[in-house]
Amino acid sequence: MDPITVLLDEVLEDIRPLRDGAPAGYIPELAAADPEHLALAVVGPRGRVRAVGDIGHEFTIQSISKPFVLALALADRGRDAVLRKVGAEPSGEPFNAISLEPGTGRPANPMVNAGAIATSALIPGDGVDDRTSRIAAGLSAFAGRSLWVDEQVYESESATGDRNRALAHLLRSHGILEGSVDVAVETYFRQCSLLVTVRDLAVMSATLAFGGVNPVTGERVVEEVVARDVLSIMTSCGMYDFSGEWLLRVGLPAKSGVSGGLLAVAPSQFGVAAFSPRLDVHGNSVRGIAVLETLAERFGMHTLEPH
Ligand code: GLN
Repeated sequence: MDPITVLLDEVLEDIRPLRDGAPAGYIPELAAADPEHLALAVVGPRGRVRAVGDIGHEFTIQSISKPFVLALALADRGRDAVLRKVGAEPSGEPFNAISLEPGTGRPANPMVNAGAIATSALIPGDGVDDRTSRIAAGLSAFAGRSLWVDEQVYESESATGDRNRALAHLLRSHGILEGSVDVAVETYFRQCSLLVTVRDLAVMSATLAFGGVNPVTGERVVEEVVARDVLSIMTSCGMYDFSGEWLLRVGLPAKSGVSGGLLAVAPSQFGVAAFSPRLDVHGNSVRGIAVLETLAERFGMHTLEPH
């Protein structure tokens, strides 16, 4: 093992004994996750991937899809058009909150479900399959390999997705969502059900860290300004109602998902991702947070620290 992999392995073993939290219970397929899974990956500027733990395990991307679909919407429509449909303010509320701006009905930001459903609906396409293919192709470019939907998780999420459906109906009543509610939510459920590994998430994170260029494939996936916009929103809103404390403790733009994935971006340095399904009350991975806190501390990664 090279010295960096040894260090990553040490960090992982240090936090392995943490047993707090539980896998998400509200999507039946996610509740069945093995709570012991644990993995960590880091991708540097030349696209070198270092990964430790359960690195081959696939899980659904869930809310970590949100910043990348936001990137696609920004690239397709431009910032002003996106901001007409969704805000850029931290909501201070849980990820599934009914947090719509009084008057306009705009969701607070694209990282909470209401905002993510509105953002996903900005991706052009005819129907669920066409839209999902575009989203899958875009996220695959960020990951540097083809990503596929886990049909079982999708079915499970769709069967229990009434709260997201209700949010979509509210968005439509405000004119934020223009087309079919069904197409919007089913596309959103399919986007959340794309399968990834911790390595994929680290490569996706690194693509944002290096201004929209995937350091593994060399492909420019989005323009630099789009990557910067996405990182700005991740900084203020990526960890839901823990975003402020996260910025204080770790100091990196980040995004979590209810299957237990967590990615963080060290701009111009590297992309990092962790996976562990036990979640805290905010729906963030307990051991994922601990891993990132430890890494940020040991390597002085806080973005607001003089470098
Ligand atoms: N698909 C999940 C939902 O909409 C995503 C939530 C999350 O990962 N925080 O409820």
